[in-house]
Amino acid sequence: MPGEFDLIARHFTRPARRAVLGVGDDCALLVPAPGMQLAVSCDMLVEGRHFLATVAPERLGHKALAVNLSDLAACGAEPLVYTLALALPRADEAFLAGFAQGLHALADAQGIELVGGDTTAGPLNICITVIGQVPSGQALLRSGARAGDEIWVSGQLGDARLALEVFRGRVALPGAEFEAVRRAMEQPQPRVALGRSLRGIASSAIDLSDGLVGDLGHVLQRSGIGARIDVDALPRSTVLVAQPAALQHECLLAGGDDYELLFTAPAARHADVLQAARHAGVAVTRCGAIEAAAGLRIVDAQGRPVPQRFRGFDHFAA
Ligand code: ADP
Ligand code: MG
Repeated sequence: MPGEFDLIARHFTRPARRAVLGVGDDCALLVPAPGMQLAVSCDMLVEGRHFLATVAPERLGHKALAVNLSDLAACGAEPLVYTLALALPRADEAFLAGFAQGLHALADAQGIELVGGDTTAGPLNICITVIGQVPSGQALLRSGARAGDEIWVSGQLGDARLALEVFRGRVALPGAEFEAVRRAMEQPQPRVALGRSLRGIASSAIDLSDGLVGDLGHVLQRSGIGARIDVDALPRSTVLVAQPAALQHECLLAGGDDYELLFTAPAARHADVLQAARHAGVAVTRCGAIEAAAGLRIVDAQGRPVPQRFRGFDHFAA
């Protein structure tokens, strides 16, 4: 059996380019660029809670980093480096090789590097901390939404939740359709380029990890305003469109695991939003408006209220 230090050396030691010093000493060393603020975010993935035992190790490596990069994207930050704290039931070489491959592939695509971490035996648990940079004072925050702003989302919503419902046995899908939504669940694409190109345009932003109703609720609370969402305008895949309306609404509004960006921008910046999205190569859809009256109103395309009982995901809710 390989030891802890063999595993680190084999799978998690890569050359440092952005850091002055990477893996191998007591600390990694970074030099902050002048005029920049550091953006730091940490997300933990626990088997059975955040991923199923059926996920391929490559996809798990991708997802563990992707969900963290999604937080930097929501702040408009440029990712620089990350750390990885890993608890493993045993030193499983095949698992680690696949996991590291998925992890490093996404890191390379984003031009970021692993600079440290911790490795221990225990129930499978993955905790990544990402560090990025953003020009001072320009980070996108949850608190900036203002009455009259348009509400936008990137990509398509709800597929990850639909895949989860297939795993739970509540929904059946043909093989190719299942593969498509399963990919959305297991390999989310963090919208880093979009977040950066929205700096100076968006008034607020958040990434959708716990479902639109709950995550938009955080923006409304932090910004001290309300909103209206047109559920018929929410972008969805052809697979989700074929499902009953009630299931579509559940996946779109309360799905979770979307890792798309939800952001607000003044109506006067509509064309700038579209240009930023084109520049980032990501589709964005306007799906509502910020309103002065507190609370979230969900309506259909005709403006009729849509009854909904969804709340954001809460690990400790009864
Ligand atoms: P210490 O005991 O001083 O905390 P460790 O023995 O835990 O150091 O780790 C040795 C080196 O390997 C450190 O530089 C640490 O950051 C790095 N490291 C440990 N586990 C990982 C991991 N899973 N991924 C990347 N680097 C790691
Ligand atoms: Mg240690």
